[in-house]
Amino acid sequence: MSCLYIVATPIGNLDDITLRAIQVLKAVDVVAAEDTRHSGSLLSHFGISTRLVSYRDHNEVAATEELMNLLAAGQSVALVSDAGTPLISDPGYRLVQSALAAGVTVIPIPGASAVIAALSVSGMATDRFSFEGFLPAKQVARQGQLRNLGNDSRTLVFYEAPHRIKASLKDVVLILGAERQVTLARELTKRFEQVWHGSAAAALAHIETAFIPERGEFVLLIAGQGGEQVAAAHYEAARVMNLLLPEMPPRRAAEIASQLTGENKKVLYALAVQLRQQDKQIQPEGKPPLEL
Ligand code: SAM
Repeated sequence: MSCLYIVATPIGNLDDITLRAIQVLKAVDVVAAEDTRHSGSLLSHFGISTRLVSYRDHNEVAATEELMNLLAAGQSVALVSDAGTPLISDPGYRLVQSALAAGVTVIPIPGASAVIAALSVSGMATDRFSFEGFLPAKQVARQGQLRNLGNDSRTLVFYEAPHRIKASLKDVVLILGAERQVTLARELTKRFEQVWHGSAAAALAHIETAFIPERGEFVLLIAGQGGEQVAAAHYEAARVMNLLLPEMPPRRAAEIASQLTGENKKVLYALAVQLRQQDKQIQPEGKPPLEL
């Protein structure tokens, strides 16, 4: 029986493709892709020669009809987007809805998604979070959106374009306050990956001095209302750990930092190990990872 597969692809590093994604992309009759040239390179990198058809926002209606005809004729279809998980700030909603309405089995092939990757290293509360997609491009609407979300206690996660990150951070400072904790996750899984944590005002200053360049792809995370104090204590502890680690073993650094900041010793030890690993992170033979 024909199936529609929703296949996640890497968000940068090609090694993040899953074995199952490769198997499915090889086995289906048709791969529907946002940008057939872009996905064509991905497929050929993995030696996949499946027929590609275009499925993007501007042809979504016609393309849905075409793909539904293929499914009705017993063909199997995989949907991919340019990067990450289809339908997550990417096209596919109409196709999945039509397939379900027609009784077609829709199967997820999970993998990378920038929202989850960023959240997992944000250090912010992950038990409850709200993914908000892209903030509005226009300032009045963006400020209104931030105002609406200002009292939300959940971690807020946004996708952001590099040419708008500064403007968005200015509005975060203005509407949510200079001290609201944020994480900027830039170029995840890529050569110039950068994950920065701190106050909204400090993030803005780092963008202005280009310590955090306005280039590449960004996820902006904002600590929920009330979560800042916990986050601030954690960042303070992390800052102390950063100072102590070059001078002493991780266990001792964790003990002292715990006494100074009140943060849990075990949590700090885990952080120390993580910081040490980050220091050691080098690419094998100096080669950059393969990227999309
Ligand atoms: N479907 C994708 C997913 O599952 O993550 C998201 C597609 S959306 C059109 C593209 C946005 O995702 C970018 O503007 C950026 O905000 C975020 N993004 C994608 N890849 C990223 C990466 N490697 N590092 C940071 N953010 C990324």
